[in-house]
Amino acid sequence: MDKNEQYKKTLAAKGWEIAQRLADLKAGKDFRLSDLDGLDLDTTNLQEKRLRDYLDLIERARTRLRADDGSFGRCIQCGTSFAPGALREMPWLEQCQSCASLNDL
Ligand SMILES: [Zn+2]
Repeated sequence: MDKNEQYKKTLAAKGWEIAQRLADLKAGKDFRLSDLDGLDLDTTNLQEKRLRDYLDLIERARTRLRADDGSFGRCIQCGTSFAPGALREMPWLEQCQSCASLNDL
């Protein structure tokens, strides 16, 4: 199979999984709204934000892959190529470890 096809499949599968989790979370959230547990709601909102960020990450990777301009598979900040193994596992990677750790400072 074409390498890009493999990445597309992995991205689509992960995107679907996250969308499902988001849907499950929202279904649970409506239920929790009724018991007015503020703390629980904050946690749910945080989880929802994380899932949405994850979906955005996947969507950006799909856009780079479609663009086929060489940006896919490289760090969006410094341009370093990702290790093929890492990319196979996580085709949504967009930052190398050193750029990601700089952002955490
Ligand atoms: Zn980098």
